[in-house]
Amino acid sequence: MQHSIKFNRTTRPSAQFFNGVSSVTDQTRNSLLQHYQRVLNRIHQAEKAAKRTPGSVKLLAVSKTRSAEEIGLLADLGHQRFGENYLQEALTKIEQLRGKGLEWHFIGRIQSNKTRAIAENFTWVHSVASLKHATRLSDQRPSDLPPLNICLQVNSSGESSKDGYSEERLREQFEACTALPNVRIRGLMTIPAPAADEAAKHTPLKRLRLLRDELKSAKIPLDTLSMGMSDDLEAAIAEGTTIVRIGTAIFGPRQYNQ
Ligand SMILES: *Cc1c(COP(=O)(O)O)cnc(C)c1O
Repeated sequence: MQHSIKFNRTTRPSAQFFNGVSSVTDQTRNSLLQHYQRVLNRIHQAEKAAKRTPGSVKLLAVSKTRSAEEIGLLADLGHQRFGENYLQEALTKIEQLRGKGLEWHFIGRIQSNKTRAIAENFTWVHSVASLKHATRLSDQRPSDLPPLNICLQVNSSGESSKDGYSEERLREQFEACTALPNVRIRGLMTIPAPAADEAAKHTPLKRLRLLRDELKSAKIPLDTLSMGMSDDLEAAIAEGTTIVRIGTAIFGPRQYNQ
């Protein structure tokens, strides 16, 4: 399978969108396209190395802190799937990019008073870690939209600072989550702690896969494993991920105080 991208320099829909005022320089543009292409190649190579079906791993471009215009550049290449962590920032960009047919995934920490806006504006939520939040999302999902796709977040490294279910608590609440009418439990998600070496990267990823295998059934197929970031993309693909969440390797390092 060929992963090559074409970008027509004469079409600048995102510049148009900003009334002709473009803040994206040619250098930013070229570097973004190069990095995006490199990530697609990494995914492709890792699929091959792991004997996975080509194209079986989806790419979620994590666009937190990045501008609507940068997102627009990827959208113009046909990339549709974007992940956001901060609700207010995400809502602004969703509004700015409306009409581009993008699919928005919420991957950040959920606050109870924000669940309505999440249920109304996203197609996926990867970071659900309590029955309370799952219930609110189901109750608040607008009835004219299909059920919200949900991954339950697992704290696979057992760090107290991280959100996510412990394996034990997930087993307790799993069935109740799957019974909610307006959310569809698609699988599990994790953010592993930084690992000292390549072998250590695999441990939490493999645990997540085994847990998914344990919980899935004919009725609840759990077709999704949301794991793999810029630094552990290859390990995650080897361990069976179905969607990798990549920010830095596409957009470069983030600056939070812009
Ligand atoms: C920021 C973030 C990512 C992307 O991480 P990179 O290391 O920049 O690829 C992925 N998942 C979640 C939940 C994030 O918050």
